[in-house]
Amino acid sequence: MNDLRRAAELCEFCPKMCRFSCPVSEATFREALSPWGKVSLAALSGDAPGSSASEAFAGCTGCLRCQQYCAHANDVPRVLYAARASSVRAGTALAAWTRTAERFRSAGHAEEVDLLAVHRDVSAGETATSSRTMLFAGCDALAQGGDLARAALAVARELGAPLGLAGETALCCGLKLVEAGHPDDFTAHATAVRASLGPGPVNLVFLTPGCARAVREKWPPLPAGSRVEHITTYLSRALATGGIAAERPPLPISVAWHDPCELSRGLAEVTAPRALLAAAVEEVREPIRTGVDTSCCGAAGLLPRSLPEVAASIATLRRAELTACAAPPVTASPACSSALGAEDLVVLLADWLGLSRTTWRRPS
Ligand code: SF4
Ligand code: SF4
Repeated sequence: MNDLRRAAELCEFCPKMCRFSCPVSEATFREALSPWGKVSLAALSGDAPGSSASEAFAGCTGCLRCQQYCAHANDVPRVLYAARASSVRAGTALAAWTRTAERFRSAGHAEEVDLLAVHRDVSAGETATSSRTMLFAGCDALAQGGDLARAALAVARELGAPLGLAGETALCCGLKLVEAGHPDDFTAHATAVRASLGPGPVNLVFLTPGCARAVREKWPPLPAGSRVEHITTYLSRALATGGIAAERPPLPISVAWHDPCELSRGLAEVTAPRALLAAAVEEVREPIRTGVDTSCCGAAGLLPRSLPEVAASIATLRRAELTACAAPPVTASPACSSALGAEDLVVLLADWLGLSRTTWRRPS
């Protein structure tokens, strides 16, 4: 609660420097859904938020854009996820948060798809390995059928840096439990998945940047010498050392690049995807809001489940910015790809490397 009080005090005396930055208040035109409004409401409602306060707390994708413009680097998503936990305790949680926690209890993740079956299907196409450098595909990629994981494994192999597939206990990092206001369930989930990875250092490579940051910042610490990173960071390092970039001409196309919020702000990674794009395509176009100032696609923070119309409006705004680039959009997070109708950079790399989609895509 001290954190919340400190954050609220900072907001109270601030001339709302981040006011314009929030995709939720931008899409809804509601002052109450600005970072200032939501933090103030969290402070005012304390341990007993009502239903309308809980709905306001739902209005955050965790995009961190407000933090970019906050002189105090106020961590607004952390405040609002704690406020959601207060809503859960007060019995005013949104149905979407309750469903998320229930699904975790029964399936170990929050998706309706049988992720274990998808994981086994991806795994069946792979040679068994004892490598401690593993792809943690994550729930969003597996819920989409696993093709992105297959493509990532194929690209990593082609670049001379093969990845193992993290075991079937590692389906989901658990972040959605934090977003649903169930931090204790998250800790239990993260501890169990972390233990299932076995003793000794491990290098985990994620398709979803938000998962990588959750594991870095919220999981129990991994053994010393471990590394946690996004697939673009991993592949750009492989590309730089493999010599393939010099040999292969780029694809003769232009693309519009969307930085996922959790990649550019959460992981401070803006270089690796651009290095990969520079090798793979002839021209990269950037939308008006780009890099660390990237604008959210609306697909995180459980927004598509809690406030789907708001999530859809945010996606529409961002799609318009990408459409203005007059080139097909590309990004590097399965949730962003889905919200924006964009290709994932990993798939673009597979095309560039000449990996026929029939070699890694599951027949439909
Ligand atoms: S999050 Fe930072 S910039 Fe935004 S209102 Fe609060 S103190 Fe001001
Ligand atoms: S993290 Fe993003 S969605 Fe959440 S309050 Fe800040 S700007 Fe708005």
